[in-house]
Amino acid sequence: MKRRVTALITVGLLLSLFVVSNVHGDGSVRGYREAYKSFRSLEVLKAKRRYRSNWIGCVKKFEKVYKSYPEGSKADDAMYMIGKIYLYLYGYSGRKADLDSAIRGYQIMIKKYPKSILADDAQFRIAGIYDKYKNDKSRAYKEYAKVISNFPMGNVTGKAKLKLNELKQYRPSTVSKKPSATKISGLKPVTGIRYWSNPDYTRVVIHVNEAVRYSERLLRKDPSINKPPRLFIDLHNTRIGPGLEQSIPIHDGLLKRVRAGQHKAGSVRVVLDIDGIKSYKIFPLQDPFRIVVDVIGDRLSAKKRDSESKGSKGLSLSQQLGLHVGKIVIDPGHGGRDSGAIGPSGLREKDVVLKISKELEKIIKKKLGCEVVLTRRDDRFIPLEERTAIANTQKADLFISVHANASHNRKAHGIETYFLNLSSDEEAIRVAARENATSAKKISDLQSILRDLMMNSKVNESCRLAEYVQVSMLKNLGPKYSGIKDLGVKQAPFYVLIGAEMPSVLVEVSFISNRREEKRLKCKSYLDNVASSIFMGIKGYVDGMKVASK
Ligand SMILES: [Zn+2]
Repeated sequence: MKRRVTALITVGLLLSLFVVSNVHGDGSVRGYREAYKSFRSLEVLKAKRRYRSNWIGCVKKFEKVYKSYPEGSKADDAMYMIGKIYLYLYGYSGRKADLDSAIRGYQIMIKKYPKSILADDAQFRIAGIYDKYKNDKSRAYKEYAKVISNFPMGNVTGKAKLKLNELKQYRPSTVSKKPSATKISGLKPVTGIRYWSNPDYTRVVIHVNEAVRYSERLLRKDPSINKPPRLFIDLHNTRIGPGLEQSIPIHDGLLKRVRAGQHKAGSVRVVLDIDGIKSYKIFPLQDPFRIVVDVIGDRLSAKKRDSESKGSKGLSLSQQLGLHVGKIVIDPGHGGRDSGAIGPSGLREKDVVLKISKELEKIIKKKLGCEVVLTRRDDRFIPLEERTAIANTQKADLFISVHANASHNRKAHGIETYFLNLSSDEEAIRVAARENATSAKKISDLQSILRDLMMNSKVNESCRLAEYVQVSMLKNLGPKYSGIKDLGVKQAPFYVLIGAEMPSVLVEVSFISNRREEKRLKCKSYLDNVASSIFMGIKGYVDGMKVASK
């Protein structure tokens, strides 16, 4: 009876692998299937397990998969299996060397495929080996900590946190034997200060090599000593980088200048000399770490109050103002060292979204005749805050960020369109965390900052634009492709949309992590269809405004 069940499972497994390999036409799938079969037979047959050579033979088969198809969809799975097999083998052999081989297997896998959905599991398993089998708790602590620092969005961070708490007495001590020497070298350099000037607000971005704590203080004008108001930001545990001590003149009506200096031995102070501001917001961004300071002027609030007091009659703000769309910024997500999500066969989000964006640009120029600006035209890294700053500086009327979705659940598929807002939807927060290159925890910290920032964003207009785009995608792609799933219009706190002064949306065009959708994303015809569907959505939105302003 037991044997029959096993046989059934095996048949089921083979069948599903067969289907996958057929769909995919990827040699690694076939090799992996063979290797997995031999692993299963070891698991099932006690007699086979007794011989070391059988285990090693199994390892060799998996090795062959990733050596023959290093770009194949199963290369990462095969490497992962090697770690797993050595760990199993240790259970029989009791040899320390097998444990080391397991660790090495996982380490190589993480190094070669850091974006694999198994990479965080591999890191968690390394930690587990030090914890349970090698009884090296301090090392285990360090390895669990890597799960959180290297894979903040992984699905085992929760477990790793519990483990760290369990092992907290093994946390490496921060007290150094040579305090003075490490104190200086331990200071993180402040490496750059940039700013973007807009009519209604100015964005200053401070770059630091690693994450640091900071505090800020606003000093109102002090007439007694005739000093202008200024905003201090103190960065703890930092030193000033080369060339930063010169003050940067701004003079845009909001800020006079920005200057930085080594305020105390271990802290850099950045000072914003203020001309006239109403409020300011500060939030950190990760990878690389930087602190964004938005100072908001008086004029904006006056203008906003003005337009809001006009009778609405159910018309949106830009409809009431009779605006037309003259310039659209398209933002292909990611780029350069940030590949975005990676599909099972290695397709990169950054490449796909650039293709869609360029096609979208072509169609908009041709059919709407308005100006189009792309935040990037090639494979380069652009920080999130710079993308909206580009849109604001260009005084764009619409901002469209193009992305491809990803999920640990490889079955997840469909289309969704986001606009910037607070969110309590776990899935939406997860997507935002991935696109923000941060953890879901940090997103919830961000929400409180956002509550204030939202004052300046066009929530209703963005929501309306998102509706048009989402509906158009479904309507145009649905009849042409099977299984196009409507995940709806959602809201979440995306860094890339923060500070955008125009209606702005983020489209997740398909799931690159889903085999079928990844395959589609490789086809030019699909990408062209996606682009023209987004265009139809934009056109619907723009037409809606024209009708209202007649
Ligand atoms: Zn993305």
